[in-house]
Amino acid sequence: MTGPVGALPAADRREHLAAGLATVRRRIEVACADSGRDPGEVTLVVVTKFFPASDLALLAGLGVADIGENRDQEASAKLAELAAVDPSARASLRVHFIGQLQTNKAASVARYADMVHSLDRDRLGTALAQGAQRAGRVLDVLVQVGLDGAAGRGGVAPEQVPALADRVAAAQGLRLRGLMAVAPLDADPDAAFAALAALGGDLRERHPEASVLSAGMSGDLEAAVRHGATHLRVGSAILGSRPGTR
Ligand SMILES: *Cc1c(COP(=O)(O)O)cnc(C)c1O
Repeated sequence: MTGPVGALPAADRREHLAAGLATVRRRIEVACADSGRDPGEVTLVVVTKFFPASDLALLAGLGVADIGENRDQEASAKLAELAAVDPSARASLRVHFIGQLQTNKAASVARYADMVHSLDRDRLGTALAQGAQRAGRVLDVLVQVGLDGAAGRGGVAPEQVPALADRVAAAQGLRLRGLMAVAPLDADPDAAFAALAALGGDLRERHPEASVLSAGMSGDLEAAVRHGATHLRVGSAILGSRPGTR
């Protein structure tokens, strides 16, 4: 491994992660104060994709309870490695699967994920439900909404949310918990997250338990908090820029 991760001794890496976490937690507190929200109702999901199992161990030691991954192959290997070297760290982490997911990987994800944020089609719901039942688990699921301009980043069209959500809610092995979105690249995140919040309000009229809104990343978490996000997915502001990505 090259670059910033492997180059740092563990103590320095721990300090870097602690500083990033403190900065992000402070940003969340300020954003909550600005909109009169209780920071206790906002879950920080630390997105660890591209970073090694050793970072997960350090994050767990720093009090992180929720981590996010976006590729099955990477996540399953990393979590197995963590379970082998630091079982209590592994046991302390809730795993959020946040990436576009192929149907043939669903059974694998259903074995280790606690919440899947990226359900965007029926066949994936069916595969996740089967995988969860086989694993004797119940999987929390968010329907991913594709907001204008977010083409290629996954998600169902807003008008398809109610029907897909009804089918998730009816599926054995799945528990419908809410909605997820990624703000479109070159658009105003406030407008996107306001649209997501409106869809979430409609959804809760039919499914009161679907109270999760997963929105907001390193660059736009304040806007997400303003619009009622309950889960923020933050990577680079905590871990640094990902090795080998744009
Ligand atoms: C990578 C990723 C994030 C985190 O992005 P940062 O800008 O690094 O905070 C959030 N959500 C999804 C879906 C991602 O793939």
